[in-house]
Amino acid sequence: MSDTDQPPQSETLRTPIVAVLGHVDHGKTSLLDKVRGSAVSEGEAGAITQHIGATAVPLETVSSMAGSLVDPDDFDLPGLLFIDTPGHHSFSTLRSRGGALADIAILVVDVNDGFQPQTVEALDILKRTGTPFVVAANKVDTTPGWNPQDGSPIKPSYDGQSDRARQMLDTNLYEIIGQLSDEGLSADLYWRVQNFQKNIGVIPVSALTGEGIPDLLAVLMGLSQRYMKAEMAVDIAGPGAGTVLEVKEERGFGATLDVVLYDGTVREGDTIVVGGTNGPIITEIRALLQPQPLAEIRTEKRFERVDEVKAAAGVKIAAPDLDAAMAGAPVRVVRSRDTDEVIRDVQAELAEIEVNTEEEGVVVKADTLGSLEAMANALKEAEIPILRAEVGDVAPRDVAVAGTAREDEHKVILAFNVDILPNAEDELDHSEVKLFDDDVIYQLIEEYEEFVDERKRAQQETVLDKIVRPARFRILQDHVFRQNDPAVVGVEIMSGTLKNNMRVVKFDGDKPTRVGQLSGIQEQGEDVKQIRAGNRVSVAIDGPTVGRQIEEGDELWVELPEKHAKILEQELSGEIPADELEALQGYLDKHRRRDPFWGK
Ligand code: GDP
Repeated sequence: MSDTDQPPQSETLRTPIVAVLGHVDHGKTSLLDKVRGSAVSEGEAGAITQHIGATAVPLETVSSMAGSLVDPDDFDLPGLLFIDTPGHHSFSTLRSRGGALADIAILVVDVNDGFQPQTVEALDILKRTGTPFVVAANKVDTTPGWNPQDGSPIKPSYDGQSDRARQMLDTNLYEIIGQLSDEGLSADLYWRVQNFQKNIGVIPVSALTGEGIPDLLAVLMGLSQRYMKAEMAVDIAGPGAGTVLEVKEERGFGATLDVVLYDGTVREGDTIVVGGTNGPIITEIRALLQPQPLAEIRTEKRFERVDEVKAAAGVKIAAPDLDAAMAGAPVRVVRSRDTDEVIRDVQAELAEIEVNTEEEGVVVKADTLGSLEAMANALKEAEIPILRAEVGDVAPRDVAVAGTAREDEHKVILAFNVDILPNAEDELDHSEVKLFDDDVIYQLIEEYEEFVDERKRAQQETVLDKIVRPARFRILQDHVFRQNDPAVVGVEIMSGTLKNNMRVVKFDGDKPTRVGQLSGIQEQGEDVKQIRAGNRVSVAIDGPTVGRQIEEGDELWVELPEKHAKILEQELSGEIPADELEALQGYLDKHRRRDPFWGK
């Protein structure tokens, strides 16, 4: 990297950082590849610069790719820096002071597929972080009858399609615009948008044919220039600030940091402060590394050393003591400032991300600070308490901690995008702690919620099996088959399920009187164990004599022990059928007329 004494004008404005988000398979990777590929084929070598974890496309290249859509004289921002790892996982990992590291985002939506769960999730993150974005309605080339015009801006290509193809594409595009509106966002095809701060621009593109890519670049460039110039005016020569993208072992260097620098400059020899699992790490940069340029890829060395890197850029930092550094943590260059002050800055920023834990709850492990925070947010929304939350792989200690949870449903580790250490697997085999791991947050939480629901259902079923269930039934007129020992009468079940061997009561006014106990139920001559509401059966009742304790037309009830009535009303009312609930309510009402606190 050249170091001139007189930096050109553009170096006082930094490159905007662009992130790509969207549902799986909607074409995020293909779109990034197409942007990089077209940039390479467009200009001579050096048209793009491969950074660590990012690709820089300079203004001249943007402008030659976008053709008439971008006149370089209208711009003074140096170009665009695309983060190479697409997806909202990396997006939420990439935080900077007070928000998202990316200045602007592309939300990729497959035109045929429309909004999908991860599209909505990505949109929520963009809204929450207040990140400006455009929608790339991708795969327009799959529209039936599409006549591709490789690399063309979208408007001429769109205008040149058959009416039928254009109409089919329109239907899909308006579906997406409607879905954005359902999410509370006003959007339109980008060429109709006047004010990009009020309206989201939808850009039809194809990552396969390159159609619409010039438009996408032009809109990103225009948006940045118009609305973000003030934020881009940073002190590029000042001490650097960045975010750790990944902590990686490299042969010959030990633990290194892949960093996205969003402010200032880092130099070899700089003292830096980095967020680590055991507090801030203070260390000195041994080497700054960038990927070898394409031309020299045949050399053994994957990296080349550079003296300094200016924002915005992706860079690998080699320095001692980086093992405990956390992905997602801040990195700050100290240089002329007071080290303690920088440490306090880093601590303050880490404190912002710290997750609130409680005395009781689940154990959460995640690969980065950002994803830990995203997990904590999602868990809070799902009202799942957290006992402990940490960045890192699942270790035996986590199993031990999860085992200390009071509730069985909290003896759980939720692991997001991390490895399970082999000795932790052994621990898990010998403990009642359950592990859930996934690399999609909402799926991880859904799996856990299903497990909790399943457990609850099983528990309730056992309770319901043991509990006396309410039923109301009526003795039919002219259906007395036997007076007594036992009395055998025809009945109709009015509500609930009548089971054999239950005790039977009758209310005289509000006063319950036990009349006997069921000793048989017959439906059309066959013995049955139980019978649902709406049916007529004959029942045998031990105890009463028809004409004395019971009469034709009497309303009878299954006798409910008070404790059972209470459990049914307070804990299981959601689990029993409506007619049974009605029988329960009728039974409680009768008792409560005499004793308002019965069953409470
Ligand atoms: P990601 O999961 O969002 O990164 O999606 P990918 O970039 O891996 O794309 C998923 C699939 O869609 C791949 O098979 C791509 O080749 C295909 N694909 C992506 N963009 C386009 C496009 O514009 N047109 C067509 N026809 N296929 C595409």
